[in-house]
Amino acid sequence: MKDTDSAPIVVVGGGVIGMCTAYYLAGAGVPVEVVERQGIGSGASWGNAGWVCMSHSAPVPSPGVIGYAARSLGRPDSPLYLRPRLDPRFLAWLVRFWRSSSASRFRTGYQAVADLNRRTFELYDGLAADGVETTLHRPGMVHAFLSADEARHHLAVQRQMSAGRYVMPEEPVVGPTARALDPALSADVTAAYLVEGEGVVDSAAFVRALRDRLGQLGAKVHENIDVSGFAGPSGRIDKVLTNAGEIPCSGVVVASGVRSAQLLAALGLRLPMQAGKGYSFGVDLPTPPKHALYFGERRVVASPIGSTTRIAGTMELSGNNNRLDWRRLTAVARASRRYLGPWFSEPDDLMSAIRDPWVGGRPFLPDGLPVIDRVPGRENVYLATGHGMLGVTLGPATGRYLTDYVLGGSRPEALAPFSFDRIGA
Ligand SMILES: Cc1cc2nc3c(=O)[nH]c(=O)nc-3n(C[C@H](O)[C@H](O)[C@H](O)COP(=O)(O)OP(=O)(O)OC[C@H]3O[C@@H](n4cnc5c(N)ncnc54)[C@H](O)[C@@H]3O)c2cc1C
Repeated sequence: MKDTDSAPIVVVGGGVIGMCTAYYLAGAGVPVEVVERQGIGSGASWGNAGWVCMSHSAPVPSPGVIGYAARSLGRPDSPLYLRPRLDPRFLAWLVRFWRSSSASRFRTGYQAVADLNRRTFELYDGLAADGVETTLHRPGMVHAFLSADEARHHLAVQRQMSAGRYVMPEEPVVGPTARALDPALSADVTAAYLVEGEGVVDSAAFVRALRDRLGQLGAKVHENIDVSGFAGPSGRIDKVLTNAGEIPCSGVVVASGVRSAQLLAALGLRLPMQAGKGYSFGVDLPTPPKHALYFGERRVVASPIGSTTRIAGTMELSGNNNRLDWRRLTAVARASRRYLGPWFSEPDDLMSAIRDPWVGGRPFLPDGLPVIDRVPGRENVYLATGHGMLGVTLGPATGRYLTDYVLGGSRPEALAPFSFDRIGA
């Protein structure tokens, strides 16, 4: 980026990735404008589980996941659900997903994410010290299981992956000691372990706090403005085109979640993006959890967020849409009952028992890793998307390193595994 440029860098997308990036750019004294087609934080950054964690850095494509996905075909209550579709782009995406699920690619991907994640808590602390109300608290994460064997297996995998980067317990605890790890756990939980220090945020509140701080730093945040494309001389962009007119710019960061592929298409580039749809809702449990809870066999989670409990889960590949399938939401609620006790009796009761039923599309690339890179052929256009299950955790690290890249001109080593070339065309 040239020092003489006085036009702003335009960040397209007001989710956690775009807002964190805008924050670090503005903090470095760069003029910044964020353009968001709806409200700030209205995409995947709204109703997620809010975990900020080290121990879940694994990419979704992993050994065994294809068999697991195949068994889920036609079963809408399965934690990973593929709706069969004859869309050639989706089929090509699945082939790439399958190729990414070997043990060696899984290990490399895991290490790359874990390395990017190293500074996460330090960066969250830095945001708080600068007056951003991150809402982060670190109650730790209890992994709860119905079977002790499953708990041992899960812990062994997580211990191996941690490779000393963070502290994992040596053994799960079993029986009543397991249930005593968190007051919300039911008598069906037979084994559990606590990973200390793991955190939770209210990501929608966090994004709003970033908006407030951006205002103080002199950045503009436009809501309800849709970016449709870009214009500029060969190799550079100097205007962002929107439904409310053109915005002159010195550079662009595309952080538009599942819609990033459409904006790249406007630049003649292809990005294989699928929405990994997940569901959540809020509920006031008689005994709310004190920790973030992970329900091992069913891959459903419960997070203490504000004064309520948010229950979330599922990965659904059913197209890039926000259609809420009530069967999937009910499956999440039912799965949670084994671990939390019968907090509702009939699915028909759910409507009155829960608040804010929500579906959100995780931006999901076929190797499960984000792209955080300059795009080919445009010297001043950057892309930050594809964070899948981990955007809230990785938002600050993404924004920090991407700002170093934009301002310094060369790609930080930490971003090397997240190149555009490995995945886009
Ligand atoms: C059920 C569920 C649970 C999750 N739990 C966790 C968790 O515990 N921890 C964690 O780290 N992650 C979690 N995630 C993942 C996390 O929510 C995402 O990775 C993250 O929110 C992605 O952020 P983003 O900024 O890339 O995308 P988004 O939040 O979707 O933001 C993109 C924004 O770009 C805007 N936009 C798109 N196109 C345009 C355009 N043309 N012009 C202007 N604006 C545009 C959109 O309106 C949107 O607001 C979860 C996700 C789900 C669904």
